[in-house]
Amino acid sequence: HLFSDPQERLFPAPFLARSYGTSAPLQAEEGFKGHDMLAPFTSGSQSSDVHPLLIERSEGSYVYDINGKKYLDALAGLWCTALGGSEPRLVDAATRQLNTLPFYHSFWNRTTKPSLDLARDLLESFTARKMAKAFFTNSGSEANDTQVKLVWYYNNARGCPDKKKFIARQKSYHGSTLISASLSGLPALHQKFDLPAPFVLHTDCPHYWRYHQPGETEEEFSTRLANNLENLILKEGPDTIAAFIAEPVMGAGGVIVPPATYFDKIQAVVKKYDILFIVDEVICAFGRLGTMYGSDKYNIKPDLVSLAKALSSAYMPIGAVLVSPEISDVIHSQSSKLGVFSHGFTYSGHPVACAVAIEALKIYKERNIVEKVKSIAPQFQDGVKAFSDSPIIGEIRGTGLILGTEFTDNKSPNDPFPPEWGVGAYFGAQCEEHGMLVRVSGDNIMMSPPFIMTPSEIDELISIYGKALKATEERVK
Ligand code: PLP
Repeated sequence: HLFSDPQERLFPAPFLARSYGTSAPLQAEEGFKGHDMLAPFTSGSQSSDVHPLLIERSEGSYVYDINGKKYLDALAGLWCTALGGSEPRLVDAATRQLNTLPFYHSFWNRTTKPSLDLARDLLESFTARKMAKAFFTNSGSEANDTQVKLVWYYNNARGCPDKKKFIARQKSYHGSTLISASLSGLPALHQKFDLPAPFVLHTDCPHYWRYHQPGETEEEFSTRLANNLENLILKEGPDTIAAFIAEPVMGAGGVIVPPATYFDKIQAVVKKYDILFIVDEVICAFGRLGTMYGSDKYNIKPDLVSLAKALSSAYMPIGAVLVSPEISDVIHSQSSKLGVFSHGFTYSGHPVACAVAIEALKIYKERNIVEKVKSIAPQFQDGVKAFSDSPIIGEIRGTGLILGTEFTDNKSPNDPFPPEWGVGAYFGAQCEEHGMLVRVSGDNIMMSPPFIMTPSEIDELISIYGKALKATEERVK
């Protein structure tokens, strides 16, 4: 064991209080501690006792706080600012649209050109299988909520009223609205919220390192998980299971890359029982994995697709659902019978958000963003994975421009550090100290840098990671 006296290893309160640590004192000391915002994914004591990190502006791969301190934004905001923080073409697209038509809706067969153009561009860009329609939302959570409604509407229309349950995976993240939080497989999203909703079931997390049995290959592990899924379906009754939802690479659950043959085997099971496959591409789409979509990388042929984040490079809130021809045909005839498809949001297809997303897609294409990601990914992956031998690192995992680090003792998934040691929090605080922002979740560290990172910025990322790691190793020695 690396640790002899756990009590001595407790980290100072400020480090734990804002899980990302403390920064330099704010110039504007007054008024921000205990601020008026009920802050998302922040604890009450954090927001009352510790100054928030106030980010004021962004430039390329960097953001700056209100004291002018510069940080390499290794998470691209929240896995989303794919084109970095100062792409003038996105700003121009928004400005042009704001000056022409800041808003019109898309209800009752009234709509705007940007929303129609974006629907066309998106359908064209998704080639893993042909999709027929795009529905617009404001976020990834709304996209996944919409998925559930579409699937229920579809199954009611085709005379399968009992086929209503959803299967998601443990450790998945699909959002934080009632239904998307239910689909998510993270206990913190359920506790005290009376979730998950009863129609949601969770099957195995495909994390080979953590869950494989002694001597089991990745392929065998995938077979076992597919068998478990099939057993769950049989136990519940195939006629009650409507859809399966999965991220190609799990993001917020700790960056979990699927083991070899996983999606082939899962898709075969799902297909066998007439269960729809929803792919949640909210993080993986538009190049992050070195393919345009995660579905391209893992040969996923989904019935429904959820998109958000890099869709507009996060410059405007927008999400989307892509719908297969079979589902869209059924919805079409059902809504004709009922007189209307009664689902939508005031801002579905918001013209400014759509204009920005159209420009983002254009830039991805023009700059051949997939090739760009492929060209920088090895430097990023190899550079960080070179630290895998650290005695406090259990696993570093990732692909393309997404990467997770899990701190454990003895290099074992079964020897977590005591949570009160705050090993992950300390590492995050050290990164922040050295000018880099990462995501910390317990002893998991996650990074998903912007696609525009230069080789020298990746060198900087690796160097700060190394410094933070060294300091963390010293702390826990
Ligand atoms: N799906 C995935 C895979 C995500 O990572 C997220 C957000 O991180 C969501 C859905 C929810 O998106 P939003 O926060 O835009 O509602």
